Amino acid sequence: MKALKNSFAHVSAGREISPWGVLIAVVLATLAGMALTASAQAPKRTVIRAGRVLNVRTGELRANQAIVIEGDKISQIAPSSEVTAAAGDATIDLPDATLLPGLIDMHTHLTFDLNSLGYQGLSISTAREALHGARNARRTLDAGFTTVRNLGAKNYADIALRDAINDGDVVGPRIVASGPALGITGGHCDENLLPPAFHFEGEGVADGVEGVQHKVREVIKYGAEVIKICATGGVLSKGDDPNASQYTLEEMKAIVADAHRLGRRVAAHAHGAEGVRWASEAGVDSIEHGHLMDDAAVATLKKNGTYLVPTLFLGEYMEKNMDRSDVPEFSKQKMRDVIAAMRKNTGKAFAAGVKVAFGTDAAVYPHGLNAGEFHVYVQLGMTPLAAIQTATINASDLLGSKYLVGTLEPGRWADVIAVDSDPTKDVTILEHVKFVMKGGTVYKNDYSKR
Ligand SMILES: [Zn+2]
Repeated sequence: MKALKNSFAHVSAGREISPWGVLIAVVLATLAGMALTASAQAPKRTVIRAGRVLNVRTGELRANQAIVIEGDKISQIAPSSEVTAAAGDATIDLPDATLLPGLIDMHTHLTFDLNSLGYQGLSISTAREALHGARNARRTLDAGFTTVRNLGAKNYADIALRDAINDGDVVGPRIVASGPALGITGGHCDENLLPPAFHFEGEGVADGVEGVQHKVREVIKYGAEVIKICATGGVLSKGDDPNASQYTLEEMKAIVADAHRLGRRVAAHAHGAEGVRWASEAGVDSIEHGHLMDDAAVATLKKNGTYLVPTLFLGEYMEKNMDRSDVPEFSKQKMRDVIAAMRKNTGKAFAAGVKVAFGTDAAVYPHGLNAGEFHVYVQLGMTPLAAIQTATINASDLLGSKYLVGTLEPGRWADVIAVDSDPTKDVTILEHVKFVMKGGTVYKNDYSKR
């Protein structure tokens, strides 16, 4: 459309007025006008004819369905026999596939990798991290994740990556990005690897009520769509304790008040029980990890309706690969302690009916393996459908209603993935996504290769 408008403007502005020039100008103007009118009235239509479509709300699997897409949104889902493709429609036939909405990972770090953690990470520039992010964004999209929350990146590399994807410069999922995570001086979201002479401070460091208010406003100023905070110590940081709370209740209340007033949700990294309780009582929207919760913390999440984003597959991955990774020894010891407790505590939260949204912390293991998280939820007592709901309708609920993701319904963005068989029977099939569409554009179609 942009090209047509430009050529139209160019012709109109032409100074040579020969009869041929006039004729050409009239014809081009007419054609351009027709094309503009046509595209204004009817955006590009695509019809996907699918073997089966999964309704992720109900678990119902319907055979021989057609999904009609106009522009970047779904306009209709109906039995294939009732939908006729018009001339000019693109058609995609997936007779052997099961379709479901694009998956959502609520906790990624696309600009980080395993080698960004620990001392090695100090040598990587932000520009290089953004380019890692471009590679990891593609891997994540290819794995069927059409939307991610990116919770923490250096120097707004995540915001730049989001913008590059939205501008069509780079291929990747929709990104809801936080920019730098807020944290206390010396806490999990500061940087404690360098000695005092460097006077280095993490970009998200903010202390006290006034300090955190300023920082929330600052990260929003530079593009944050969600606020990430560190409520307790963490595993991959030096000199802090995952069990110890870091932000005070008052600081977190101030963060939540400003974030919500400015239309942003708050995600709190929290392992230890006190930090989980305080963050939930302060009104944060999700607890990330929650691995060292006690019964009172679980009860608090349940009472307040706070989402838990469990990030469990990293435990399974690290148990197998810890010795080969570059993670520093002080982190490895904390990791062993947390891994030993994470499944039991998360299982209690599942049993208590705490709301769960899917999240992985991808970067602590290779990007693109995100769907490995599903089978852990099933091992801890969820049905496969409930596990799928964490990455679709629950994640969508936690993101907020302005993001039209999580279901295949008219009016939602056309984010569609396909697998060979029914994921409500075996959720591990989601580790083998063969078709990915985001916003009506196909990014992967292994079915067309046969
Ligand atoms: Zn994380």
